[in-house]
Amino acid sequence: MGQDEPHYDVIVVGAGNAALCAALSARDHGASVVVLEKAPASAQGGNCPYTGGGFRFVHDGIEDLRDLVEDMTDADVARISMAPYTADDFRRHLLAVTHGDTAPDLMDTLISQSRPTVDWMLSKGVRWELPSGSRPSAGAPSVIPNSVGLAAWRSGPGLVDMLTRAARRSGIDILYETKMLRLLEDPRGGVRGVVAGDRDGIHEIRAGGVVLACGGFEANPEMRVKYLGGGWERAKVRGTRFNTGDGHRAALDVGAKAGGQWTGCHATPIDIDAPKTGELEVTDRMPRRSYPLGIMVNLSGRRFVDEGEGFAEQTFVKVGTRILEQERGLAFQIFDAKARPMLEPRYGVATAVEAGDLGALAERLEVNTVAFRGTVEAFNADAQDGEYTPRKLDGRATKNLDPPKSNWAIRIDTPPFVAFTVTGGITYTYGGLSIAGDAQVLDLEDRPIPGLFAAGEIVGGIFYHNSLRAAGLMHGAVFGKLAGAGAAKVTR
Ligand SMILES: Cc1cc2nc3c(=O)[nH]c(=O)nc-3n(C[C@H](O)[C@H](O)[C@H](O)COP(=O)(O)OP(=O)(O)OC[C@H]3O[C@@H](n4cnc5c(N)ncnc54)[C@H](O)[C@@H]3O)c2cc1C
Repeated sequence: MGQDEPHYDVIVVGAGNAALCAALSARDHGASVVVLEKAPASAQGGNCPYTGGGFRFVHDGIEDLRDLVEDMTDADVARISMAPYTADDFRRHLLAVTHGDTAPDLMDTLISQSRPTVDWMLSKGVRWELPSGSRPSAGAPSVIPNSVGLAAWRSGPGLVDMLTRAARRSGIDILYETKMLRLLEDPRGGVRGVVAGDRDGIHEIRAGGVVLACGGFEANPEMRVKYLGGGWERAKVRGTRFNTGDGHRAALDVGAKAGGQWTGCHATPIDIDAPKTGELEVTDRMPRRSYPLGIMVNLSGRRFVDEGEGFAEQTFVKVGTRILEQERGLAFQIFDAKARPMLEPRYGVATAVEAGDLGALAERLEVNTVAFRGTVEAFNADAQDGEYTPRKLDGRATKNLDPPKSNWAIRIDTPPFVAFTVTGGITYTYGGLSIAGDAQVLDLEDRPIPGLFAAGEIVGGIFYHNSLRAAGLMHGAVFGKLAGAGAAKVTR
């Protein structure tokens, strides 16, 4: 950065999905824009590259998506059946996972702007494809799920790449290894720039508007403990190591109001050998979610959670959290020979501890042997004979155990027995800043802070208790687009 104090119309903090949408939108409105990215170019985009690039948006079925996917043929359209995904579907699904807590104004904006934002991204050069899990095999008729209509071409890394190219084409400056340290306040009120650090030192950069799109605080152990609770310092971070809550802290320092569930995050049981922070090549192989087919015990040899409360998709956030509450934040997933062939394929890369009887297994795991044997005996005494039916809630429940196992309570009685050591992995945090419907950050009295906008994971009020697949990227894009437009208009 040069000696002269630089000035832009809009500063965008971060270079992920939300940030780049904000930058492109500000540019659409005539603003000069600089993007500050704390990471080097090779790690740009925060958590975005870790995603499958799926977007949840309102659409009218496969015919309607056709114009968004450049290589979709008439034959593809004829053999694919995908129902419309309505605004009501989106609202119902979001409210179901968040127990009705999502802020109504944010939800309405997210849903009503979802499709127009996908169209706008296309106009900026983002290519779309059918989500990877739903691509029909050549020639075969297919019914594919409608909720995640499309994914960015070449998933999360492709999304960041396409948005970055679009930003460059639009004349947006992207400064890498440049970290926003704090916000510059205008003596008349509001925000008029940032203080940033790079290899040359610390600089002030002035602007008419600032968009914070620098992710959550999942990679900051101190903030995890402060807001999520004791035990969270041990969590493995599934995504980027650069999302350390810098935007949250900077905004609170200038009087922003916290919004959403600061005590909540997306989590999952994860292999004990997973890296401390995300590594793109391995992250997706680390979750361990086949626990409904067995039991889990802690170091004391005791069960601590209902492994069969529901399908893993419905319970893994809670289960990941409960594991971190155990001694040393770890647990053992125990299966017998009946269950083992049904484990998720990604268990194939995990370290398995095997034994011909339960006593030997306990010794190899260093759990309390006596308690462990008692736990399994009590479980088997209360559980049932038979086979697992993992695709349906079978209602085969224990009757006298605390905690119960509400489904798939089948005896663990067929050697060899196998155990996998797991801990809790954090994906991203839910708590953030309160924003108005136009993405302007609110102060403690619910007044907009002039010149300050936010988008993406840093926004609070959308996810509570759980998150909705492919809605994270969608809300980042929707509010990013609005934030960029708002910040550009302040400058005008
Ligand atoms: C393993 C994994 C899987 C996921 N799967 C999905 C999915 O399938 N669908 C979905 O919708 N969501 C998914 N998510 C969540 C999704 O990644 C986030 O919702 C989304 O990436 C958030 O976008 P963002 O633009 O707000 O932040 P990010 O994409 O994380 O970008 C934040 C950027 O800010 C930068 N930054 C941080 N601090 C500073 C600072 N002080 N100064 C400058 N720059 C800074 C970071 O380096 C980063 O580039 C997943 C997340 C993970 C980790």
